[in-house]
Amino acid sequence: MLEINIVDIEDPLHEIVRSGGAFLMVPVDGDDPAIFICRRFADALTQDELRAVVAHEEGHYVADHLNAVGSGIHTNQEFEFAADDYAVEKMGSAKDLLSAIYKTAEFTMNVVLPETLGDDWDDEVRAVARELTDAVLNPRIDRLKARLHSESQT
Ligand SMILES: [Zn+2]
Repeated sequence: MLEINIVDIEDPLHEIVRSGGAFLMVPVDGDDPAIFICRRFADALTQDELRAVVAHEEGHYVADHLNAVGSGIHTNQEFEFAADDYAVEKMGSAKDLLSAIYKTAEFTMNVVLPETLGDDWDDEVRAVARELTDAVLNPRIDRLKARLHSESQT
C-alpha cells in the first residue's frame, strides 16, 4: 500500500513538493516510495481531483517509473502519459484529472513562481513562465480532453 503524505510548510520537503504539487518519491530516510502532496495544493482540489492526482502518482509507482529514471522526480512525457492513463482508468473518467491539471498550472503560476521569484516576478517573467507551463502541461491536457470527448460519445 502506497503511503500518502500531505506536506506542510514546516516540512523540509515542502519546497520540492510544492514545486510540483504532488510527487512520488523515496524519502531520504526511508526505503519505500511514497506519495507527497503539498497541503496548499491539496486544499485547492476537490475530493475527486485529489483522488485523481493520487491515482496518477500511483500509476508511476505501479509502472516502476522511479527505478526507471533513478530519481524521485519524473519529467519524462511518456511516463506522464502512462500515469495519466492509469489514473483515468482507475477514476473511470478523465474529468477530475483534467481539472486537477488545470489547477496544477494555476498553482504554479499563482503560488509557486510568484513566491519563489519574489521581486523578479514581473509581466515578462510571467509570460515566459506561462509558455513553459503550457508547453509541459498542454500535451497531457490535449490527451485528456480527447479522452473526455470520447467518453461523452459513448
Ligand atoms: Zn507524473
